[in-house]
Amino acid sequence: MDFRLAPEEKMILETVRDFIRTELTPLEGAQQEAHLAGRGHEFPDEPTTRRLQHKAKDLGLWGIATPKEYGGADLSTVLNAMIAMEMGRCLVSFQFPGRADNILFLANDRQKERYLIPTLEGERRSCFALTEPTAGSDATNIRMTATLDPSGDWVLNGEKIFITNGNEADFAIVFAVNDREKGTRGGITAFLVDRAMGWQSRFVPTMGTWGPARLTFHNVRVPAENVLGEVGYGFRLAMSWIGAGRVTIPARAIGQAERLLQMGIDYAQQRVAFGNPIAEYQAIQWMLADSAVEIESCKWMVLHAAWKQDQGLDIRHEASMAKLAAAQMVNRVCDRILQLHGGMGYTQELPIERLYREVRVYRIFEGTDEIQKRAIARNLLRGYARVGSWD
Ligand SMILES: Cc1cc2nc3c(=O)[nH]c(=O)nc-3n(C[C@H](O)[C@H](O)[C@H](O)COP(=O)(O)OP(=O)(O)OC[C@H]3O[C@@H](n4cnc5c(N)ncnc54)[C@H](O)[C@@H]3O)c2cc1C
Repeated sequence: MDFRLAPEEKMILETVRDFIRTELTPLEGAQQEAHLAGRGHEFPDEPTTRRLQHKAKDLGLWGIATPKEYGGADLSTVLNAMIAMEMGRCLVSFQFPGRADNILFLANDRQKERYLIPTLEGERRSCFALTEPTAGSDATNIRMTATLDPSGDWVLNGEKIFITNGNEADFAIVFAVNDREKGTRGGITAFLVDRAMGWQSRFVPTMGTWGPARLTFHNVRVPAENVLGEVGYGFRLAMSWIGAGRVTIPARAIGQAERLLQMGIDYAQQRVAFGNPIAEYQAIQWMLADSAVEIESCKWMVLHAAWKQDQGLDIRHEASMAKLAAAQMVNRVCDRILQLHGGMGYTQELPIERLYREVRVYRIFEGTDEIQKRAIARNLLRGYARVGSWD
């Protein structure tokens, strides 16, 4: 194992840092204003996002996780995790261009032309629709039906909920039941469904600015050529999509926690109470020290999972642990840093209360804390993961 980055990797990270410093950080004030005006989920707006994406592309920051055959940089999972940490330190949310859902790369050639390539080019926008009003953690129990019509088309009926980008997407990757008896073993199919085929979306107001949507499918007709992968084998695709987020979410959480910690360090040194900067009080020092230690331990968990992925090893156990640990850590750090700021931390003048609401969802989406614990315990009890193993 080598902990050093190659010179080229260092250069990429430097480029990302420069991009954040020169392009994103100056927008932090406007982001906060948009938040105060109740438009936080619309920031940055479409023209600004396009401008930033062009700039990023000019700097070579296009397709950082996309295979080379599609023009991407195909950076390692470790480097992608480090980039997500860097991005997390910035208060402006932005995604580098040239990315697409990992399962779209498994599409057939014709589907790639219609969905994958335009998504990479920023011309189309997808959403991933698995969760339903009656099935979230137990996604194996989804109810949306896919019925094969005598014409050869599939007809979709049902509802999806909490779908990120569901209001903005022009196509959805939808999971529906084609054979209830077979369930996850041959009975759930993934479909590529254009909005133009007839599904509707409605914004769901939430605690943070994620802006997910409820999608309604009423007799939505989908041509057979829009089945993603094989009929009946969509659940595996869904799990592989969710698996990818279990490295990026904790990586981003680490960056956010680091930014919060820095805010805490700065404020503790300038805020005076009882005649001294509060940094001199042990209660405050412990908040900073506990946060630093927790961030560092999560960082290694994420980098280890990412490194294993780069070695082609199964990372489900490590990724579950990293996601659980980092989701809880960033919530604790945010709470402490808010506390350290006293009344100011609770105001909307500072971004802490916004982050407090943003990061809460990390403990819920893409596998709740409880579901991660269930997976970790099962891995141990069934011997898929061994205590003290170096594998
Ligand atoms: C902002 C946001 C964005 C989202 N984006 C998407 C998206 O893009 N696409 C998508 O498909 N979904 C998305 N989701 C849905 C998300 O993945 C689900 O909300 C999540 O999986 C939990 O499901 P649920 O809400 O139905 O909770 P439930 O499954 O009803 O769980 C309720 C509670 O019971 C606990 N619980 C459930 N089962 C067990 C068990 N066996 N043991 C112990 N405790 C258990 C849970 O941990 C939780 O605390 C999003 C959600 C949010 C809030």
